[in-house]
Amino acid sequence: MGAKHILVVEDEEVIRETLRFNLVREGYQVSQASNGIEALEKARELRPDLIVLDLMLPELGGLEVCRILRQETTLPVLVLSARDSELDKIVGLRVGADDYMTKPFSLAELTARVMALLRRAQPTAEERGVVEVEEFGDFRFDRGARSVRVGQEALRLSPKEFDLLSFLLANPGRVHSREQLIRRVWGPKFFGERKTVDVHVRWLREKFEPFEALPFRITTVYGVGYRLDRILEQREPAAPDVAVIGRR
Ligand code: CA
Repeated sequence: MGAKHILVVEDEEVIRETLRFNLVREGYQVSQASNGIEALEKARELRPDLIVLDLMLPELGGLEVCRILRQETTLPVLVLSARDSELDKIVGLRVGADDYMTKPFSLAELTARVMALLRRAQPTAEERGVVEVEEFGDFRFDRGARSVRVGQEALRLSPKEFDLLSFLLANPGRVHSREQLIRRVWGPKFFGERKTVDVHVRWLREKFEPFEALPFRITTVYGVGYRLDRILEQREPAAPDVAVIGRR
């Protein structure tokens, strides 16, 4: 894996240069922007792994930049501010910043927070430790071969449908928000709509709908997200009233 790429957005050149110098020394690849418009342009074009974002910026303020980015991507945003009021922190977090630091700050602390945010955006150990093949009854999900079978039938899933189902199967019984699913399945650099998740869940349900004896179902948790439920007891394959995955 190459160096993580950080976009530093700061209009004061001395601070921007200091940040760049220190982050490069820590082994990161660093790009810079000096106003809000440029920040949005570079974020969209360069798809960095993380943005360090000053709030007081010319052209377009940092809060507005953060709010717009949040509609397009889940990439981590660390907000920097000269203001030190509780209100600013709350506003910063409400527009979707992942973390918040008040100037003046120590470079060591900034580096530590950058590392923590990047680590949080990585797949968890649980995901990395997933089994290669999941098999229950007629259902066989092979991560290595990227194949899914139900009985004799091979299902054709798109790459993202496969990744989404893979993540859900590896993390059953927990509700995942659309934002979490995008971060984990599409990656933190994804730019696009949250609705992408709904569309993929719908496609998965449609593809599995013909099969009645599945060992899981994808449940919509209204206002929150989706949860995969394992169905532990083996159902009779012929049971006519069990259409587990198509149910909303
Ligand atoms: Ca500034």
